[in-house]
Amino acid sequence: MPFATARTVSLHGAVGHLIDVQADVSPGLVGTTLVGRPDASLNEARDRCRMAVINSELPWPSTKRITVLLSPADLHKRGTHFDLAIAVSVLAADDKLPRAGLAATAFIGELTLAGQLRPVTGVLPMVLAAAERGVRRVVVPEPQAREAAMVPGMSVLGLRSLAQVVAELRGDPVPDAAPVAALSGSRLLSWRGEERMEALDLADLRGIEDAKYAVEVAAAGGHHLMLSGPKGSGKTSIAERIPSLLPPLSASESLELTAIHSLAGTLDPATGLMVDPPYAAPHHDASKSALIGGGSGQVRPGEISRCHGGVLFLDEFPLFRSDVIDALRQPLETGEVSIARREEMVRLPARCMIVLACNPCPCGEYRVLARENRCTCSEVRRRDYRARVAGPVEDRIDVVRHVEPARLGAERDPMAVHESSATVRGRVTTARERQGRRYAADLWRLNAHAPATALNERWPLGPEASRLVEDAVYAGRLTRRGAVRVHRLALTVADLAAAPGADDGPPGADDVAVALRLRSGQPLLVETLSRRAG
Ligand SMILES: [Zn+2]
Repeated sequence: MPFATARTVSLHGAVGHLIDVQADVSPGLVGTTLVGRPDASLNEARDRCRMAVINSELPWPSTKRITVLLSPADLHKRGTHFDLAIAVSVLAADDKLPRAGLAATAFIGELTLAGQLRPVTGVLPMVLAAAERGVRRVVVPEPQAREAAMVPGMSVLGLRSLAQVVAELRGDPVPDAAPVAALSGSRLLSWRGEERMEALDLADLRGIEDAKYAVEVAAAGGHHLMLSGPKGSGKTSIAERIPSLLPPLSASESLELTAIHSLAGTLDPATGLMVDPPYAAPHHDASKSALIGGGSGQVRPGEISRCHGGVLFLDEFPLFRSDVIDALRQPLETGEVSIARREEMVRLPARCMIVLACNPCPCGEYRVLARENRCTCSEVRRRDYRARVAGPVEDRIDVVRHVEPARLGAERDPMAVHESSATVRGRVTTARERQGRRYAADLWRLNAHAPATALNERWPLGPEASRLVEDAVYAGRLTRRGAVRVHRLALTVADLAAAPGADDGPPGADDVAVALRLRSGQPLLVETLSRRAG
């Protein structure tokens, strides 16, 4: 039998497909052919594998015709991690390795010319894909054994060289090999999410009860938020405290987020599974590929995907590049991003709370009250600035809040409640559990992600509540898209107010009235805020 099959995984975004690497070694025209839509980086695998085998003091069948078929053939295949599976399948086809059992193992890793097994990005999503297809054993570069072992039930072999892999497969004593470096330097990108978050608490913020309630609703239902207000009004302080209001990620969310970081090359092997909701605040100079994703070769997730399950804060939003602002429409609406490659469209998860902040004008000093206004911007510049948020982006934001710098004496405000993040997180968690029960049979978990059709069919508004929404649409204060967002918000307002064990009834007119205020940016009523404190 002149052929053998080893297996590996091809990544398309964060989705992996199990690939059969079938090598055929037979007499004929000498040479190595790779078939099954390999890209250029993969074509170079032929030379890397041949040199790695020879430098590992193993025989390469250089007097024969070698054909390596990657199937399914219709999938594009990209990356250097195919090396190990190719080398193993050629050696097995040439009877230098036992063929039995090869198909039950997935081989992942790039080979150096010297035969070392080198780390690659995306090991976690690859191993997850292999596990889904019933593979129970993987061979990975040693520094990535811990990452692969995050997949439950997977038996992981972390090795340093091709010679070690061959010895393992033959059942021979495993030879020594020099340790291989983990992904580092330019290959391990630093990611500065989650920095300095622990000490931040909602209790530090005084005199903005209206904004705090809005943030609580947004956190409870996973709604997008826009904070507007002059410089020094505390927009950043509010945004960076939102992660402290969120419960830890579920097991599946945690695995999904860690897989994205594995793909991005931003997973620190020492951290292990990422369990805290991520947070990032990229600068407005950020490029589209840094924010949304892109890169040449294997697709690299952007900040928005790396915040999956957490919070992405875009301060001074109108100053972001227009292509970035346009590209945000899709994740705002669907919770994922599509990245065009030459031959295919790759989709990545990007389901985070997007928090936008904007000043009232480019200089940030504009005030409605003339005596407080120190703005130096022209009317035209001010209008242009506002126009960048208006329209498609604004329509996809659920909660709009205006914040003013805290007044002197705000801490003596009778409405102020000074709750800690932990207290609010308790209510957010209870409201999220309620949503989890409501959507137990669905693909989404939070109100913000419920499709409009499902809302109207299964959780319709009552007649009085409906009329409030219809009136707002009729008066031109609300778009159709906005009406759906108000419906979702009203569900969250009701979830937060529900007594424990209360029935899952439709949101009432009161809840819709609060939702309409949250959505339009109007200040909340004192009753609403006191209901929360009570
Ligand atoms: Zn100004």
